[in-house]
Amino acid sequence: MANPLLKESASKLKKAIPLMLKHQIPTTPTNYALWYAYVGEKSPKLNLYLDQVVSQYSTCPPSHSERLYREFLSDPIELDIVDMRLNLDAMVTELSQSLKDTNLDANQFHSKIKNNYNKLNKIESDGFTIEEVLSVIKNLVQDANEIRVSAQQFSEQLARAQSEIDTLKLQLKQSEHEMHFDALTNSLNRRAFNKDLKGIIELHPQGLCLIIADIDHFKVFNDTYGHQLGDQVLKAVTKRLTEACQDGTKLYRFGGEEFALIVPKSQLGRARQLAESMRRSLEKLILKDRRKGDTINNISASFGVAEYQLNDTDNQLIERADKQLYEAKRLGRNRVMPISV
Ligand code: GH3
Ligand code: MG
Ligand code: MG
Repeated sequence: MANPLLKESASKLKKAIPLMLKHQIPTTPTNYALWYAYVGEKSPKLNLYLDQVVSQYSTCPPSHSERLYREFLSDPIELDIVDMRLNLDAMVTELSQSLKDTNLDANQFHSKIKNNYNKLNKIESDGFTIEEVLSVIKNLVQDANEIRVSAQQFSEQLARAQSEIDTLKLQLKQSEHEMHFDALTNSLNRRAFNKDLKGIIELHPQGLCLIIADIDHFKVFNDTYGHQLGDQVLKAVTKRLTEACQDGTKLYRFGGEEFALIVPKSQLGRARQLAESMRRSLEKLILKDRRKGDTINNISASFGVAEYQLNDTDNQLIERADKQLYEAKRLGRNRVMPISV
């Protein structure tokens, strides 16, 4: 198990299963997920509740499991991934068990064959009859046949397991992709943003800047040209903004028609310039509606920029950038705020 995620999930599973047995928790997917989260200590609150429930009932009654699951874990994507990891773990365990079984079989065969050979060796010295010789040979052929069938079954089982593992790995990769990327624009999503911003604030917050961009009067595009063209605008804007990213700046789809850019190791003035060049680039964007022959050349966006200040939390930084964005809208849109630094 080279994959660290698998290694981690296997070790959590090893802890979760004995606990579930101890507290007589049925092994349903809900309970698996719940106890998996418990041993992973993902939420201190969840652990506290579960501890309380178990100490009161000496188990966790299904109604409580359902409630805790809904409250703490009902993120379908994350659950999907947990589910798949559990499946992968199960596959790997099964595979190693059948390897052990095969080894066991091979040992048994080995002793059987040895036994038959010993008998064969005795033929000369003990003067076996032809019937006895034939019976020894028959046994040998039979045992060899059993080995052949068993080896074939095992290699088929191995091939099947391998292909299932490959499929699961692919699905896991896709789910992990879906977890952090937006399906429409294929840019990083809000979840990735929250994670990355927290990470940078923790590790290298110096010079960190945040840009929030919001397409101007986007609702009008939808109302005038339809939702599908609105989607085209979102994709085109994403492409432009991504192209303008440099020096480690990352783009995220923050919400419907809102984007965030994390600009690491920079300063307010430089981040402002970056936003300004993005604003100008969007102004030049031209989109054609092939069905109706419309040309859309009035796309613009407003930008709010903020720089990290000592002891800022992620939310404080977002709030300051958001305030600047609001100012940009209020002052007439299609601009970057603050005006200068
Ligand atoms: P403002 O300049 O003040 O930002 O005006 P606005 O029209 O851009 O802002 P508003 O918040 O009123 O409307 C945003 C619209 O974005 C409404 C919503 O239907 C649309 N929207 C959000 N997500 C999507 C999407 O994925 N596709 C499409 N086509 N439209 C979306
Ligand atoms: Mg808008
Ligand atoms: Mg908006």
